[in-house]
Amino acid sequence: MVCCVILEIPSLALLDFYSAPEYIKNMSRFSPLNWPVVRQIRGRDPFGRDVNTQSQKSKDKRGRIEEADRVVQSVCPYCAVGCSQRIYVKDDRVIQVEGDPDSPISRGRLCPKGSASEQLINSASRLTTIKYRAPYSTEWQELDEDTAMDMIADRYLEARRNGWQDTDDEGRRLNRTMGVAGLGGATLDNEENYLIKKLFTATGAIQVENQARI
Ligand code: SF4
Repeated sequence: MVCCVILEIPSLALLDFYSAPEYIKNMSRFSPLNWPVVRQIRGRDPFGRDVNTQSQKSKDKRGRIEEADRVVQSVCPYCAVGCSQRIYVKDDRVIQVEGDPDSPISRGRLCPKGSASEQLINSASRLTTIKYRAPYSTEWQELDEDTAMDMIADRYLEARRNGWQDTDDEGRRLNRTMGVAGLGGATLDNEENYLIKKLFTATGAIQVENQARI
């Protein structure tokens, strides 16, 4: 109906809301000139599908990535599908994670879990320090990275040594350790799995597996 009004009274269309002075655009939302139907008649949006029927609340909305100062490409940390992500960063802090349209795998899509990656990164309950619970202890203690890495290396070498087999019962060469096994998680990407497999195999471990959904 509004369309007909404009066609019959074309001069009203000249009262363009977009070219109106700022004081008219900013006038109180209680002004009759700001009523949606009046804006519809006066503006360039006769069918009411655009800004003329927007509430102030809708107009004030901003994109979640609008304030980002840079974008970093990454891979979803959750499963082996490996969907690509764009990480939006502001002041060195992740503010949003979106699907990457350039990815041949996911073409911009993320499942609900991948879409919620920002909550994983910025969760208040996320652990960001190394925790260690000594045998028989009921308390966790924090370790610095160098100490933790040394402890892991010492335990790895000891387990490797204790489980080492030169030969089997019939004297055939084995050169392997049964004291170490690797089980990767689905969050590991190709590069991490490559390095883990290379390290474990080079040190004689033969039980190297990965839990992945596909
Ligand atoms: S969890 Fe979802 S978004 Fe992440 S890699 Fe898997 S399918 Fe893709």
